[in-house]
Amino acid sequence: MLSRKTAIVTGSTSGIGLGIARALAGVGADLVLNGFGDRDEIETLRRSIATEFGVRVVHHGADLSKPDEIRNLVAFAQDEFGRVDILVNNAGIQHVAPVEEFPTDRWDAVIAINLSAVFHGTHHVLPGMRERGWGRVINIASVHGMVGSVNKAAYVAAKHGVIGLTKVVALETAGSGVTCNAICPGWVLTPLVQKQIDALAASQGIGVEEAGRRLVGEKQPSKAFVTPDQLGGLAVFLCSDAADGMTGSAVTMDGGWTSQ
Ligand code: NAD
Repeated sequence: MLSRKTAIVTGSTSGIGLGIARALAGVGADLVLNGFGDRDEIETLRRSIATEFGVRVVHHGADLSKPDEIRNLVAFAQDEFGRVDILVNNAGIQHVAPVEEFPTDRWDAVIAINLSAVFHGTHHVLPGMRERGWGRVINIASVHGMVGSVNKAAYVAAKHGVIGLTKVVALETAGSGVTCNAICPGWVLTPLVQKQIDALAASQGIGVEEAGRRLVGEKQPSKAFVTPDQLGGLAVFLCSDAADGMTGSAVTMDGGWTSQ
């Protein structure tokens, strides 16, 4: 379905980004992986995806808090593959604290990585997408782009911003063959969430498994984590012809969280 197409997936060395990268490779896309991690582990990951799916996979370690490095990431992808057809803006971080105690440097980092990077990446890929008359920008927002939760000021502000940016890019590209949509996951068991489970276990003096059950049970009626593979399936759908008419949408996959 996506053979001869190239996708950049930011923050794809772990969690949701890795699930989406694997799903896109599974339908033939060549990949630019991005994200931090141990150099040897990233190389093993890169090779294993390339071998399993028979696609070309490269990695670029751009720090998405730095606009110049985002420009370099897109330029690298264009040099390697001649084009960027799909941009999945996925890299993200979390910091949990009440507003009065929220450290300024954490606010700046969350806004830079979770929101401003989405703008910078999109800004650099759109000209090529418009020229070729086809493109997909998929922003990994969150249920926190739609509703708030205590102690997540920067994250909730950034994710609401991502949904707003998604709408503007959709309007500006309407009719060009480029679509821009947001995916809004509920709880997904990844390293980003494991930190919050560990903190809950420590603060309540309970085991990690029980903390995981409480965390997901409190917000997510399904009482089950959404998985990176399920989100990968949704991203593949957004890249399909069936999604040609879908742009500016914020699609939840949240086990019913935002239906309450
Ligand atoms: P994760 O911690 O498993 O993965 C984050 C990825 O981003 C990693 O590859 C990491 O190396 C990369 N990254 C972090 N900072 C970076 C930077 N400065 N530059 C480049 N790469 C960087 O997290 P995840 O849970 O898979 O989250 C991925 C996205 O999904 C985030 O945008 C997050 O907000 C969103 N999300 C997660 C959940 C969840 O429950 N896990 C729910 C809703 C939305």
